[in-house]
Amino acid sequence: MSSSNTIKKAKKLVDSGYVIKIEADLFQIKSSSDPEKSYFVTGDTCECFGFKNYYKFHHGNGQKANCSHLEAIRIFKQENSD
Ligand SMILES: [Zn+2]
Repeated sequence: MSSSNTIKKAKKLVDSGYVIKIEADLFQIKSSSDPEKSYFVTGDTCECFGFKNYYKFHHGNGQKANCSHLEAIRIFKQENSD
């Protein structure tokens, strides 16, 4: 998955209202593929499969682990900052 797809997916999560702020740095994000499922996400960690396996999929490219949920939080914070 390319990073622009990750951002597209992240925007959709935010636009669908799937991002719920629980605490200052704790969010719950509904899964876009399974409405019964949700992930707890902080500013830099996520419990989803993609995040946990990021280094397995992108080994050696020097990037920090990322997923659509972490991107969704970044977008959510930008849209909700005042
Ligand atoms: Zn995730």
